[in-house]
Amino acid sequence: DGAAVAAEWDGVGRTSDGHVVPLLANVGDTPGAEKAAGLRAQGVGLFRTELTFLSAAEEPPVATQQAVYAGVLSAFSGPPAGGGGTTRPVTARTLDAGADKPLPFLTLDGEPNPALGVRGLRVARVPGPGSDVLDRQLATLAAAAAETGAELKVMAPMVATAEEARWFVQRCRAHGIRSAGVMIEVPAAVLTAHEVLAEVDFASVGTNDLAQYLFAADRQSGPVAALNDPWQPALLRLLRLLRLLGEASAATGTPVGVCGEAAADPTLAPVLVGLGMATLSMGAGALAGVGASLAAATLEDCRERATAACAAPDPMAARRAVAELAAKQS
Ligand code: PEP
Ligand code: MG
Repeated sequence: DGAAVAAEWDGVGRTSDGHVVPLLANVGDTPGAEKAAGLRAQGVGLFRTELTFLSAAEEPPVATQQAVYAGVLSAFSGPPAGGGGTTRPVTARTLDAGADKPLPFLTLDGEPNPALGVRGLRVARVPGPGSDVLDRQLATLAAAAAETGAELKVMAPMVATAEEARWFVQRCRAHGIRSAGVMIEVPAAVLTAHEVLAEVDFASVGTNDLAQYLFAADRQSGPVAALNDPWQPALLRLLRLLRLLGEASAATGTPVGVCGEAAADPTLAPVLVGLGMATLSMGAGALAGVGASLAAATLEDCRERATAACAAPDPMAARRAVAELAAKQS
């Protein structure tokens, strides 16, 4: 049961043979961050900064933003209770306005297809107030990090090209942000991983949107939900390709993690590790189960499961192949 699983996890993500995979939390606000810290998240892999401002008619004042960001950052400043000497980085995503998360002060009205429109980083790249909003957010995030002493990383949503990645990293640097990355959630960013990863300090795969754009299937539509199943071999093969392109590039050392819902599935998590994902970020309630699942497999087990899942013809076969392999391996 949940309590037994939680008791088995010691708060450090790793396979049974010691391959370290930090297990991070997806959070949206200070109470969520405090809860995640209590559940021993090793940091925040995705702080969805837009969630606090979904009903804001105007851009929130800088002081309001800084209080929100500092609240989340302070839950992870310093090492975890019990020591260990590790820092717990907080990865803030800049405002992902648009599509399923419209922000009244940023989102364009009347777009015929908002999921394919001006959302995420694109808001800062078209004429309008978005560019200044991004700069104020970056400055405020940097100020909140200085205020709390927490380790801040910042990443951009909806990046499709290496040029967008470069532009974003330059903006971060202008505000003294040392660790700047991008979400990989548009298939084009996978196919150009060689160039994209060379621009950034880290990347994080958003499997929710990556599946939506890979299958041309609205993530909010029930009738097409089966296409957005993270066990779809096409999605897993795209992650494998991401890994292969990353390894073949000069940016071999750029860590790539996962922060979409796929990372919260304890059966799929070892597959993602086998595909080379360096960190997993999830709803905090999933941490203990994923931690226990990783602790029960070697890195080689994970790699074999990844190969089996990618080779399967459909999600059901992928689940079955991985379950059979796991039973044999244990
Ligand atoms: C994703 O797209 O997978 C993701 C993690 O971000 P969001 O769900 O907020 O779009
Ligand atoms: Mg997304």
